[in-house]
Amino acid sequence: MCAMQTKPLFIVMSAPSGCGKSTLIDMLLQEYPDLQYSISCTTRKPRGEEEDGIDYHFLTIERFRELLAEDAFLESAEVHGNYYGTLKQPIIDVLNEGNSMILDIDVVGAAKVRHYVFHHLPAEDPLRAGYMDVFINPPSLEALRERLEGRGTDSPESIERRLANAEGEMARAEEYMYQVTNDELGIAYKRLCDLIDVRSGRM
Ligand code: 5GP
Repeated sequence: MCAMQTKPLFIVMSAPSGCGKSTLIDMLLQEYPDLQYSISCTTRKPRGEEEDGIDYHFLTIERFRELLAEDAFLESAEVHGNYYGTLKQPIIDVLNEGNSMILDIDVVGAAKVRHYVFHHLPAEDPLRAGYMDVFINPPSLEALRERLEGRGTDSPESIERRLANAEGEMARAEEYMYQVTNDELGIAYKRLCDLIDVRSGRM
């Protein structure tokens, strides 16, 4: 079992849709009581059981544009035809409280956050000092197709779009500090815990 972390971490995680990233993040949130999930804003409609304010802040395009104009986002990107954005202030607040934050964002958003952290923040800023990013790989594109079809929440067109995007996203996996392949959930999870324990100074 993993233990409580010590140094506040700012964790950015990306993966093609259907790689089990949400499951892994849920497991980490259970494991580490001081880890919080960054609730993104999106203009896409809720899927399945998703709830506003828990999974996402589901916004109209007008509200999203207002927040953009207010410079409220650390990054924002268009993914699969919808807009997504990460609010800046909640991350700063959580890190300043000594807790850790985990972001689930796409490769474009992650590149923007990485650039911001390393080019615009001083070394001692908590967001930079605690920064780490991880890319979750599927075992194969075929396995990814099976998972997307199996979860039954996406239309066939959406599945094709997500698979086409997956290849492009996987081509950028090298930009991340760490890569984890989610072939077996338990093994991928253990590797993530080890990374967090090392980076937080626990190990
Ligand atoms: P989904 O619609 O399946 O929830 O998410 C689609 C993609 O959008 C995923 O790759 C997810 O990581 C990404 N995403 C979710 N929130 C954000 C965000 O705030 N910013 C960016 N850039 N991508 C996000």
